Amino acid sequence: MNAPAAEGRVTRYGPLQDSAAYDVVVIGAGVVGAGIARELARHRRVRVALVEASHDVGDGTSKANTAILHTGFDATPGTLEARLVREGHALLGAYAAECGIPVEPVGALLVAWDEDQLAALPGLAAKAARNGYEAARVVDADALYAREPHLGPGALGALAVPDESIICPFTTPLAYATQAVRAGVDLHLNSRLQHVTWAEGEGVGGHTLHTERGPLHARWLVNAAGLHADTVDRMLGRTTFTVTPRRGQLVVFDKPARALVHHILLPVPTALGKGVLVAPTVFGNVLLGPTAEDLHDKTATHSTEQGLSALHTQGARILPELLEEEVTTVYAGLRAATEEDDYRIDSWAEQRYVTVGGIRSTGLTASLAIAAHVTGLLAEAGLDLGTPTSLPPVRMPSLGERTQRPYQDPGRIAADPDYGRIVCHCERVTLGEIRDALGSTVPPASLEGLRRRTRARGGRCQGFHCGAALRDLFDGELS
Ligand SMILES: Cc1cc2nc3c(=O)[nH]c(=O)nc-3n(C[C@H](O)[C@H](O)[C@H](O)COP(=O)(O)OP(=O)(O)OC[C@H]3O[C@@H](n4cnc5c(N)ncnc54)[C@H](O)[C@@H]3O)c2cc1C
Repeated sequence: MNAPAAEGRVTRYGPLQDSAAYDVVVIGAGVVGAGIARELARHRRVRVALVEASHDVGDGTSKANTAILHTGFDATPGTLEARLVREGHALLGAYAAECGIPVEPVGALLVAWDEDQLAALPGLAAKAARNGYEAARVVDADALYAREPHLGPGALGALAVPDESIICPFTTPLAYATQAVRAGVDLHLNSRLQHVTWAEGEGVGGHTLHTERGPLHARWLVNAAGLHADTVDRMLGRTTFTVTPRRGQLVVFDKPARALVHHILLPVPTALGKGVLVAPTVFGNVLLGPTAEDLHDKTATHSTEQGLSALHTQGARILPELLEEEVTTVYAGLRAATEEDDYRIDSWAEQRYVTVGGIRSTGLTASLAIAAHVTGLLAEAGLDLGTPTSLPPVRMPSLGERTQRPYQDPGRIAADPDYGRIVCHCERVTLGEIRDALGSTVPPASLEGLRRRTRARGGRCQGFHCGAALRDLFDGELS
């Protein structure tokens, strides 16, 4: 096996170096693929590349979810998803604390709005226990309204799930990719995989990956292509599942709405999913959504009048005062649903191939457990990983509203006045943070990428006031 470089390269443009032969290539730098690359990076004798179609990490479904760190209380017991969500909850919770990913353990209340739903709550608590989660408790209407006084009228009780948390969905894949690159993984962006051929070479066969930027060679291939995992599977001659994009539209309310809600307010789940929720975000906003619409178009990430209107109706029941608040933005994400209500993670040793498909509505939570599981499958299939080593530590920027932000830190401002120079006033983002993001291990490729790293342009004016200044900074005119 090749000896890894001390730090990996991040490439976005130009032809890929054809000489680059990797032990493992991971396709897809969403939260799942980036997590797998990070886990593999522990094994320094293995040369790894993370290959992504987009110009940035976390630019697919991973940027458009509800940002909940699930306990897995409501998973189907016995499924792979149930196990990996439960394990992932613990792993990501610990990892977030270690590297500064914002998390708030606000807890969830699964609200019963009629007698049938109320009757279902003890069964849901028992299901939670079968999933290894024992802390769910049924609370009556009085206790529910004491906890959530702004809840709409008519709720009969709730299931309290104290360990459900909210998390920053943007920092998570970035932390994984940053740590992976610092540990030697090459990250190739703008490199959509187009087809795969098998080549025998120097006694060890391998994949030739034909990407938009030229070929790469990989002894082992991991498919973490999210919505396109079925397409990549077919490139390998596999037709084991088909991805049906299930759209979830969401509304983001402005920060004054945060005072209206203390927990994640969930409905009793239906066959189509977890249903519409109201939840705070770690940035101090409030989310309403998501819808659940099965589509055919894997690019249909737009919001619709019908979807927003349905959310309006449901939001009016859950938290009527919310609808009087200002809307900051709307967005939509596509879940990678398949024919089965479980993840589709399979390994083919003879083909040196692992597919990581069907990572539907829980992949953010489960990402680190998926990464450990996939690494185990690679080892079982014959990849000699060698002894794992510790990863270089990462400390991600402090984006959470409940943590001290740089503009609030007198010591930091005294040491570097750029942390006192606010560029984005809605989100209080300073010049120092913009500068740090632009110079980071995995720098942004667009103002959207800068937003995910700093919150700049993510506030109520959506960049109306700071957009031009940010564009200048992005174009290299730091001042
Ligand atoms: C509305 C909604 C709400 C959700 N809420 C939650 C939640 O609260 N908590 C939670 O844990 N999970 C949640 N999820 C699920 C979670 O967001 C996903 O499971 C997770 O983001 C999937 O990550 P991924 O890396 O598999 O996919 P993606 O993020 O889509 O990454 C796949 C990557 O592969 C790349 N790619 C595709 N084809 C190719 C190719 N040919 N060559 C190279 N690259 C390619 C894509 O560009 C993309 O970047 C939600 C999802 C949605 C849509």
